[in-house]
Amino acid sequence: MSAPLISLESLAPASSMDALLAKATSGGCSSSSCGSSAKPDDMDPAVWEKIKDHPCYSEEAHHYFARMHVAVAPACNIQCNYCNRKYDCANESRPGVVSEKLTPDQAKRKVIAVANEVPQLSVLGIAGPGDACYDWRKTRATFEEVSRDIPDIKLCISTNGLALPDHVEELAAMNVDHVTITINMVDPEIGTKIYPWIFYRNRRYTGLEASQILHERQMLGLEMLTARGILTKINSVMIPGVNDEHLIEVNKWVKERGAFLHNVMPLISDPAHGTHYGLTGQRGPKAMELKALQDKLEGGAKLMRHCRQCRADAVGLLGEDRGQEFTLDQLPEDVTYDPAKRETYREVVARERGDHVAAKQAAVSAVRETEAAGSLLVAIATKGGGRVNEHFGHAREFQVYEASPKGISFVGHRKVEQYCLGGFGEDATLDGVIEALEGIDVVLCAKIGDCPKDSLRAAGIRASDAYGFDYIETAIGALYAAEFGLELLAESA
Ligand code: SF4
Ligand code: SF4
Repeated sequence: MSAPLISLESLAPASSMDALLAKATSGGCSSSSCGSSAKPDDMDPAVWEKIKDHPCYSEEAHHYFARMHVAVAPACNIQCNYCNRKYDCANESRPGVVSEKLTPDQAKRKVIAVANEVPQLSVLGIAGPGDACYDWRKTRATFEEVSRDIPDIKLCISTNGLALPDHVEELAAMNVDHVTITINMVDPEIGTKIYPWIFYRNRRYTGLEASQILHERQMLGLEMLTARGILTKINSVMIPGVNDEHLIEVNKWVKERGAFLHNVMPLISDPAHGTHYGLTGQRGPKAMELKALQDKLEGGAKLMRHCRQCRADAVGLLGEDRGQEFTLDQLPEDVTYDPAKRETYREVVARERGDHVAAKQAAVSAVRETEAAGSLLVAIATKGGGRVNEHFGHAREFQVYEASPKGISFVGHRKVEQYCLGGFGEDATLDGVIEALEGIDVVLCAKIGDCPKDSLRAAGIRASDAYGFDYIETAIGALYAAEFGLELLAESA
């Protein structure tokens, strides 16, 4: 395997512009694919333009590009049984949680500061902590202010859909081409177990009537977005015993109405969160239950499997959160946008990405061409760039891929507590990591010590650092070949 062309991670810390430009303009790319397009053959070029740098709408882009959420929309017009919006909560990572609410002016200052420091930034999203469409004036003011200074940033909102139809025209006029609607049911009877009330046209509704109105508004909003060419992602929270099987029906409905992606997320439920579900003992699904449902949904609306259920003030690549580096008290009063780092990063990524796509295609087709009948569930420790480049003990999540005669596909991620801090690993933390890796056959990472490796082996999980810094798919392809005794990937491995 050739050495990495450029270490993308090395671009994340502040580096001199001369150094960045030297990397971007230096030769050394040996791949014939360098600069080639990563666009899938069957994708409309206009759609590709919209998603290619969006870490949530393109699984491939999430290895390279970052999003940030600004918490400008605290008000909400419905109550979900899984929600309790919390402030000043730096340690919890789940939707609705933020450390500080922002005005549109403060949000603009923060976005510029982040854009100057985080070259991967491509998307600005408003995902609460309430509802971006209900708290519309602040959402609109924030987008108007930011897009004046950073015109190429993609604007994105997340909404429960109740107020959405009232704002679709303005969203289209502002070039917002990504909208997420959370749709947990298409049967209002099921909705009564999820939504105790809604507030609509100055009136509070409860019971079946509330869910009926919400359902109609969600469908209308989705149809209006589709008619205007705005890409819509549907988030559904999987609530075992409430809507898990029903999400198959939801998937059909949203596909028929033009949804671009369906993102089924596990319910996060804990009594400490103070939510109705948390306090009444409603459990969330296990990782393997979520995967089983997602597998059943294959063939319907295209699935998003790489969602990290981010905070409403998250900053950085998916799977990392640099929000605490950009709290208001750390931001300069006056900040001017400097596009240099973002532009340079894009040049570097364009080159690396072509190489990655070619390596991925080679690995996937080689695995597909095998006569082997087996499959492998592989957990990858990565810190971005599409490579196996994180130490086992430093990982806060593992990306999970399935290799089988069908190819190599991303199937999800497992969040874990970082096992090794300051050079030492805690046994109790390792136990939690091993539990989170239930069902995994092999862990691939850049480095792993003998002690955690032995503990993993005792739990039936093998671990290897033999493929450190390879592209993820190349590493998995080579592993698959080794596992099933095949002569694969001789050129790309
Ligand atoms: S719509 Fe969002 S902010 Fe409102 S209650 Fe539901 S989860 Fe919370
Ligand atoms: S919550 Fe999911 S869709 Fe939203 S920014 Fe995070 S990863 Fe993307």
